[in-house]
Amino acid sequence: MSTAETGLAETPAADPRVEVLPARDVPLGGPRAMTVRRTLPQRSRTMIGAWCFVDHYGPDDVTSTGGMDVAPHPHTGLQTVSWLFTGEIEHRDSLGVHALVRPGEVNLMTSGHGIAHSEVSTPATTVLHGVQLWVALPEEHRHTARDFHHHAPAPVALDGGEARVFLGTLAGDTSPVPTFTPLLGAELLLRPNATVTLDVDPAFEHGLLVDRGDILLAGTPLRPAELGYLAPGRTTLTLTNTTGTDARLVLLGGTPFEEQIVMWWNFIGRTHEDIAQARTEWQAATDRFGAVQGYPGDRLPAPELPGTPLKPRGRTR
Ligand code: MN
Repeated sequence: MSTAETGLAETPAADPRVEVLPARDVPLGGPRAMTVRRTLPQRSRTMIGAWCFVDHYGPDDVTSTGGMDVAPHPHTGLQTVSWLFTGEIEHRDSLGVHALVRPGEVNLMTSGHGIAHSEVSTPATTVLHGVQLWVALPEEHRHTARDFHHHAPAPVALDGGEARVFLGTLAGDTSPVPTFTPLLGAELLLRPNATVTLDVDPAFEHGLLVDRGDILLAGTPLRPAELGYLAPGRTTLTLTNTTGTDARLVLLGGTPFEEQIVMWWNFIGRTHEDIAQARTEWQAATDRFGAVQGYPGDRLPAPELPGTPLKPRGRTR
């Protein structure tokens, strides 16, 4: 029996309430320190579908700070999804991919068993603004091969705005980027004071991240940087922009992810031992993660593991 079947069987009736998840400021550290607004994971909610990490940043004027500079670092058991509103980031990974992340173009990197990558904003970038998202890989695929996909979705007209569907299906558009569990990822623009109703998959739970504007999601107010969560069971989502200027949102969704995961630093596993093993292999520079070519500097060392065992966390019910 698959975990998805278990999940559907246990899905409760739709909760009409929107859970408002506030962002917390997290300094990323490093020589060009950036602060991001993190809405997943948090104490009250670990995941939305397989989405397990939501960082939102900017608009930051980076002309004086130099912008983003993340040295080669490893990942395991996850996919990274990069989506920009403004700016440009140069990506290099141990698959040999050298790509630019540009506004409106999704870059999805599958770590599988292990990958390493670096992310550096380009010299021409004066403003950085976007989201960095992670997707947890299900047990049967978490040791899959490294992979990379790029897609620039054409905007789809909505009555009251437009959508750019970077993963999954919404408003009649389907992203060609494959996923390992059913997922949705889309940028939405709502015109001033517009109300938009979207058909959605009732098997999905959803999260709506507000970038700009004041929003009503199913009647609940959401402010910029907040993430509104809705349980499965809905066939439509109704969004209202209560401001007199365009609003920008990121809509995430997926079927509930029923496995417990351990997230630590840049790794996702199932047990403390999985994480400790990945850390040991990164520190020893084994072939598991490979090498990033072309980054002008050293790779990031892993931090020390905490003194107590890492605990698995699962879906919030
Ligand atoms: Mn990364």
